[in-house]
Amino acid sequence: MSDPQEIWKDVPGFPGYQASDYGNFRSLDRTTAAGKTYKGKDLSTRVSNRGYVLVDLRDAQGKKVTRSAHTVILEAHDKPCPPGMEARHLDDDPLRNRFVPADTAEESRTRGGNLFWGTKGDQYRDKVRNNGGERPPVPGPAHDCINHAQCGGKTRNPGKRCLPCVEQVGRDAAAMLRDGRNLHRVAEHFGYKRTDFVFSMAQKHGGYTGTKDDALIQGRKRSQRVTAWARKRLRRGNAASPAKAAEPRRQEAKAGTAPFGRVSPYDNLGHMGHGKSQDVTQREPPQRPEPSRVVTRSSRPHVPYPSDTVRYRAPRKPGVTRHR
Ligand SMILES: [Zn+2]
Repeated sequence: MSDPQEIWKDVPGFPGYQASDYGNFRSLDRTTAAGKTYKGKDLSTRVSNRGYVLVDLRDAQGKKVTRSAHTVILEAHDKPCPPGMEARHLDDDPLRNRFVPADTAEESRTRGGNLFWGTKGDQYRDKVRNNGGERPPVPGPAHDCINHAQCGGKTRNPGKRCLPCVEQVGRDAAAMLRDGRNLHRVAEHFGYKRTDFVFSMAQKHGGYTGTKDDALIQGRKRSQRVTAWARKRLRRGNAASPAKAAEPRRQEAKAGTAPFGRVSPYDNLGHMGHGKSQDVTQREPPQRPEPSRVVTRSSRPHVPYPSDTVRYRAPRKPGVTRHR
């Protein structure tokens, strides 16, 4: 333990303690203010959970402080820790604490030292050097973009768009929103169930400046813009008899307009097995509410590349478990 060449220096801030350039610690004979004397001794060290050597010292007030050995040695033999720096083990061996004074870490290392102040970057470069060079890069994107035929892009996960395609979606979505289209429809157009991603891409890549609330409201038919109260009422009425609302109001029957035994011109139910609607082929087709507002794929306005080449995710097959 006691190499004749071993150099001992006082530990700053811990009077009566010394650290050696070989990583050893000792206390000196000392007398406290109260007149009590202590005999100096070699200090034992221990190893932390993270693998560093620790040593217990008492500061000037007599309070026990646990310090990491390599930091204490650098403070005693070199200088206080420069701002933004850390104590390095040049060889990444935390159990070896050998200080060799030198101008550069490289010089200290070639002369057998392994302690030096340095930045986080230095720490990283130590690790790279001690591990035999840079690690191989993390494998890059490996799946085809859903628009691969056009863009040739790759993605990290299957069924996604590559970055250029996502940026194009953002630009297209912003253009559609500026055209007054509803954000729900825009998200649906690009195959997203939710609106968050499309909207943030429209802001990021398309420079869209409108609010999300407006984007969610704009472009809806009038009945969708009315309050929830009115919407509920309308829904209830439509659900009860969807065809009736569109039918012309039936005239009130007047006395004498439908003599007994004859079918009323307003009676299209054909009850009693008689009447004009007995022949099914002659019945008028039932009236249905106008479906013009239903957005179908063919009724979507054309949006140039790549939105019109977007493939829609196939619906999940029943009974097939998706693996995540
Ligand atoms: Zn792509």
